[in-house]
Amino acid sequence: MCNTCGCNITPANEHLVQSEGRLAYTEDGKAAVTVLQSLLHENDHQAGHNRQHLDYFGALAVNLMSAPGSGKTALLEATIQALGDEFRIAVIEGDLETENDAARVRALGAPAVQITTGSACHLDAHMVHNGLHQLDLASIDLLFIENVGNLVCPASFDLGHHLNVILLSVTEGDDKPAKYPVMFRSADLLLLTKTDLLAVLDDFDPATAEAYFRQLANPAPVVMVSARRGNGLDAWLAWLRDNLQAYRQRLPRDETRSLTLAEEGVRCHRSSAPAASHADHHHHHYDHHHPGHQEI
Ligand code: MG
Repeated sequence: MCNTCGCNITPANEHLVQSEGRLAYTEDGKAAVTVLQSLLHENDHQAGHNRQHLDYFGALAVNLMSAPGSGKTALLEATIQALGDEFRIAVIEGDLETENDAARVRALGAPAVQITTGSACHLDAHMVHNGLHQLDLASIDLLFIENVGNLVCPASFDLGHHLNVILLSVTEGDDKPAKYPVMFRSADLLLLTKTDLLAVLDDFDPATAEAYFRQLANPAPVVMVSARRGNGLDAWLAWLRDNLQAYRQRLPRDETRSLTLAEEGVRCHRSSAPAASHADHHHHHYDHHHPGHQEI
């Protein structure tokens, strides 16, 4: 639950914020839906700014999203150990509380900024901007952003990153892509993690997980990894190398890689919210800054 993604608006209570609902207007008379939409537009504006920072220094930013406990930090540890001599890696960690994950990354010699979101269920572009200013972007090739563990809200926010990697551990259900389509549709890569446990699980079929994923019409590669045993890591590392190389080749042509699916997440997330005129007034302003983005 937080005040920026609309996750506190549900089909059951949305009548309260619509037209003549009891919470339709804030204390200063602004329409509640308009306030929410303005926050999301400000996020996109900030995200574009973040991406300009990253592109200036040629740092590829990869956003890791998943449910809690699917092994994002373990994957980062294995990745830093494997690629630490090849690339300069830094991490922005997002959790509601604690410095634990940043400490795990720093223990391996990589710079890490911990963002604690308090009650917010996702990172946003402003939090990431604060994190960027605590890092030396000139000495980073790969920036990993480990989002808050949550299969819903993080998918609706452009952080200014370039790629989305979704982790699905084999200890979760293999039907998760069907249940959380917004998240899985946003994936540039799907990692099935903790695959060393498949031997003792009889209720997770990787082929079923991939079939549900393909039903979302997402052609992104699916890679099976065990960070603990090292299985499948080569394919993950090759994907990172290929994408960093492709990104660096695009930069001199001024072609960054902006996200095309973030807006779809926002739309789905608040599918019942009526269009606000405030957003229309700013249409051209935001289009100018984000030519790759569709206005909602
Ligand atoms: Mg973690």
